[in-house]
Amino acid sequence: MTTLGENLESVRKRIAAACTAAGRDPQQVTLLAVSKTVHAPTLAQAVAAGQTAFGENYIQEALDKMRLLQALPIQWHCIGPIQSNKTRLVAEHFAWVHSLDRLKIAQRLSEQRPAQLEPLQVCLQVNVDQAASKGGVMPDEALALAREIARLPRLRLRGLMTIPEPAVDFASACVVHARTRSLWEALRRDGLDLDTLSMGMSADLEAAVHCGSTLVRVGSAIFGARQPRV
Ligand SMILES: *Cc1c(COP(=O)(O)O)cnc(C)c1O
Repeated sequence: MTTLGENLESVRKRIAAACTAAGRDPQQVTLLAVSKTVHAPTLAQAVAAGQTAFGENYIQEALDKMRLLQALPIQWHCIGPIQSNKTRLVAEHFAWVHSLDRLKIAQRLSEQRPAQLEPLQVCLQVNVDQAASKGGVMPDEALALAREIARLPRLRLRGLMTIPEPAVDFASACVVHARTRSLWEALRRDGLDLDTLSMGMSADLEAAVHCGSTLVRVGSAIFGARQPRV
């Protein structure tokens, strides 16, 4: 087996072990392979090892890989910031967007989603630790924005996504993930039909699964440490 295959296997085992520890069914947690800066042939190897969902942060980089890998059964997820002038490309080429945090962008994506494709599956990104420098809607504004997004015809609001500051240990990661989980529950109680909690990365996926994550976004634990982007 390749190193990549071994890495994937070990991430799947981590997810399964975390589910067992939390009394959850491992089928409830999707693994999204975060492939920013990773070249197309490596993604093809990951597909050969059974991985089909990939997350990309940079639109142009993702489009280049989509072209090279169009023969493969890949589901593409956009997990990076989206400028207004990129919404059409996102609406036309991705299955999912996790990084939605503005109504204007959501409206454009809905208007530009091609009629022959399924609705774009979206998560609302929440700035759960309220860091000024970061994307995501503030927690106290999430409900109002989620209600507006849920009304858009060509989007299907699936849940929440967070990128918390790195935590020092399991317990402190859980404090933050539990906050996202409660916000998600509050939105569901409000009547929003959400089934996705996109939280947990290479370093904190166990804590995220413990707190109810349904989708972990894992990059470096699968593909190795990233080179700084130039
Ligand atoms: C890069 C990235 C990840 C993956 O991070 P790792 O620590 O490499 O697993 C997950 N989510 C988002 C939004 C990212 O940008």
